[in-house]
Amino acid sequence: MSQHLPEPEFDELYRELILDHYRNPRHKEPLADADVVAEGYNPLCGDEVELRLDFNNGTVTDVSFGGRGCSISQASGSIMSEMVIGKSIANVRKMSEQFNKMMTDPESEPPEELGDLEALQGVAKFPVRVKCATLAWHTLEEGLRQREEGGHEAHVEE
Ligand code: ZN
Repeated sequence: MSQHLPEPEFDELYRELILDHYRNPRHKEPLADADVVAEGYNPLCGDEVELRLDFNNGTVTDVSFGGRGCSISQASGSIMSEMVIGKSIANVRKMSEQFNKMMTDPESEPPEELGDLEALQGVAKFPVRVKCATLAWHTLEEGLRQREEGGHEAHVEE
C-alpha cells in the first residue's frame, strides 16, 4: 500500500462507495478474446490496471477490469467499467475528458454524466494521488487509440 502518499478523506457515503468497488470490483472476469488489452501502471503508488475491451463499430460493447493497488485506483477502474459498457467511443472520450477535468479542478461542479465518479472528486485536492484516480481512464484512452490504429495491445505508464 501507499503509506508514503497522503490519504484523502472522503465523505461517509463516498468512502463506502469507493470501498465497495475496491472490495468487489465490477466486471472483473477477464474477457476472453478481447479486441484490445490495455495495461496501465502508476509507479508513484504501485497501481496496476488491466482493461480488456470489446467493440462493435463505434461502441464499447464490453469491458473487463482487473488490477491491484490502492482503493482509489481500483474503485476508479471498477466504476469506469460500469459506466462505459454500451456507450459510443465518442461518448466515452467525452466522459474521460470530463473526469480528467474534475480531477484537476477540486472546485469544479462534476457534470451529471459522471454519476458515481463524483465520489472521487475529493482526490483532486491531493495532486500526488490524482494519478491513482486517472490511471484507469488514461489506460482506457490508450486502448481506444490502439483500436483506431488497428492495434490490440496498449501500455500506459502514468
Ligand atoms: Zn494509488
